[in-house]
Amino acid sequence: MAKISEPNPDFTKMVIEAGPGSDTLMLCYQCGTCTASCPSGRLTAFRTRQLIRKAQLGLKEEIMPTEELWLCTTCYTCVERCPREVQITDILFVLRNMAVKEGYMAEAHKKIGENMLRIGATVPFGEEMKKLRVKMGLPENPPTTVGNKKAMDDFRKVMEECGFDKLMKGGKS
Ligand code: SF4
Ligand code: SF4
Repeated sequence: MAKISEPNPDFTKMVIEAGPGSDTLMLCYQCGTCTASCPSGRLTAFRTRQLIRKAQLGLKEEIMPTEELWLCTTCYTCVERCPREVQITDILFVLRNMAVKEGYMAEAHKKIGENMLRIGATVPFGEEMKKLRVKMGLPENPPTTVGNKKAMDDFRKVMEECGFDKLMKGGKS
């Protein structure tokens, strides 16, 4: 038998208070404009309106592990069109932050986070790019975390200070 989640008002309160923007959660009257506007929802099973409703009801167990939470591209189209000015994208950020603290993160986001910790950039700097830079008369590596050890060390310190490294290992920050 399918498990039915119980509404959890404490979770709803936590979302509303986590802000900024999440204090608009209860303004949603479920018109569906966000779902109809969402470019991600056109290609996936992600339904923005549904996720907002689950957050209103405090259905934590349904929201935290879901892949849908990570399908938003943060384009803000829904926010621009919402007749109630619900800060939908900010609410999604709040939900994602909560999910990460509970140990949930989509694989693609995990890879990007791991790259950040390893090389200080979201995308690895490949051999082809290095060759192209040299061909253009530039140093092989750019003077960022990729080519500057001090910048990388400083960046790692910031990641440790804010607890990002622990979050990436599935722990609490
Ligand atoms: S567009 Fe706004 S009011 Fe309509 S369902 Fe989406 S969040 Fe709710
Ligand atoms: S911000 Fe996210 S939820 Fe809103 S329309 Fe863009 S992809 Fe969809």
